[in-house]
Amino acid sequence: MRFITTIIISLFAFSSYAQQTEITGVRYWTSPTNIRVVVDLTNEVSYQMKESSAPPEIIITMKNTKSNKQELLVNNTTIRQISVSADDKNASCIKIGLTKKTIFNVFQLKKYQSKPDRLVIDINIPDVKKTLPVSQKEIERIKKRAKIVVIDAGHGGEDPGAIGPGGLQEKDVVLSVAKKLANYFNQGHGVKAFLTRDGDYFIPLGERVKLCKQYDGDIFISIHANASPKENIRGSSVYVLSTEGADNRAAQLLAQRENMADLIGGIAKIENDVVASILVDLSQTQAINESLGLAKVTLDNMTSFCHTYSIGIGRAGFAVLKSIDVPSILVETAFVSNQKEEKLLATDGFQESMAKAIYEATLKYLEIPSSVVSLVPPKGYKHHVVKNGETLWSIAALYDKSPKEIKEVNTDIPASDVVFVGQELIIP
Ligand SMILES: [Zn+2]
Repeated sequence: MRFITTIIISLFAFSSYAQQTEITGVRYWTSPTNIRVVVDLTNEVSYQMKESSAPPEIIITMKNTKSNKQELLVNNTTIRQISVSADDKNASCIKIGLTKKTIFNVFQLKKYQSKPDRLVIDINIPDVKKTLPVSQKEIERIKKRAKIVVIDAGHGGEDPGAIGPGGLQEKDVVLSVAKKLANYFNQGHGVKAFLTRDGDYFIPLGERVKLCKQYDGDIFISIHANASPKENIRGSSVYVLSTEGADNRAAQLLAQRENMADLIGGIAKIENDVVASILVDLSQTQAINESLGLAKVTLDNMTSFCHTYSIGIGRAGFAVLKSIDVPSILVETAFVSNQKEEKLLATDGFQESMAKAIYEATLKYLEIPSSVVSLVPPKGYKHHVVKNGETLWSIAALYDKSPKEIKEVNTDIPASDVVFVGQELIIP
């Protein structure tokens, strides 16, 4: 017995020596509400954290960990700098200098696919509440005269999505297409678009669903780029949620890959096993039928300018479409794993055509003419159609209002204040 114990102890000592962890990288991502600092490690670590208030700092000490001294000057509204150093007791220390004391959360992410073991520090941006960029009141006002489309650019931040042979990352392409699509909707009338993310940061799948609900979305469109181990496979496709598993092996593999985002991008705890289970309620069965209608027009439109991957619409258990009770589709713009399509995906022309095809399909589905939709101004408001030579400023002056007052009730006027001839405005 004693003999066995000795062996176990010496094995343990050997393995802990062999498994000395190394810090191989430190980076950070900024979202509208928090900053995520990610530390790459060669193993899992045991760590201790401390907070100091003068100066405000988060200090994380990792035992049995070596690192090279480095400093990252961040200088944003939340973090001043991040520094990594090692002490002579075989421990490494990460210090995050803050501009102000704030709430933070530390957790580890296990090694997954190409991602190593990681330590994640999520730091709330001080004084920023987790709310939408628009108020609830504004959403209610928009809903009176327009449909709301929520556009979801897949992946982001720690989760690059699929990566092409030339290095193109899915997260970047889909964000660009999503922005172009939102732009189409927000320049016209009848539909207002909101994005689930407008920068390079990670949003958990469940959060994307929540955002669609918070925006009171009438339609949800998730944009992705496909990948296959077979280099020659190419083409664009449209998918809807399936209640009975995937309709073919490729669709099943695709859904599995897209559903892994939370494991790669990182959430502290996967709640209710969103990834594994696809629970569908009755209201969703109706939504799936409607989603098929939207998917069909979208696929038809795409056929006009690009090669489509499959005949018909794919169905599989996508976590991001789960629990959405409005028509929702997942567009796989093209195969980033195919050399030709990777190049195509990177072009402005392809991205623009893809956005336009989805935009026109959505309008067709909603039976909204792509020209201007006639507005019925609410009681007490006037109606104005923009004439040649008019600007937001001249229209405001005409009604003795400020441009700001007009913009408040016409949320589709872009930040550039450009109004176009024929655009219908309501005047408070
Ligand atoms: Zn994807």
